Amino acid sequence: MTSSRTPILKPPRASKEYEIKVLVEQCDGCELCVEFCPTEVLTIDLESFNHRMLNYVSVKDIDACTGCKMCERICPSVSIYIIEKDLPEEVKE
Ligand code: SF4
Ligand code: SF4
Repeated sequence: MTSSRTPILKPPRASKEYEIKVLVEQCDGCELCVEFCPTEVLTIDLESFNHRMLNYVSVKDIDACTGCKMCERICPSVSIYIIEKDLPEEVKE
């Protein structure tokens, strides 16, 4: 059933965007961050190797990142970190 009603308020939108940095040469490819990310942002890139011939983590869906920083906290080699990017004022409205 379709409705002609329209929302009074604009739908809420995120006020932050996130950037994920991976220190590729430091990453052991242990997959802990992949397993613990609640929104399946991360994956292990099986086609790429660092200088230690280990696969490393890569980002598959940055838009799904909530900035919870679970990946940062869980990483045993401190190879991944999250950067918060403030959106410009006109985007927040
Ligand atoms: S900050 Fe949270 S949602 Fe974003 S990649 Fe890390 S664990 Fe996943
Ligand atoms: S970033 Fe850290 S937790 Fe994720 S695969 Fe690499 S070493 Fe493991």
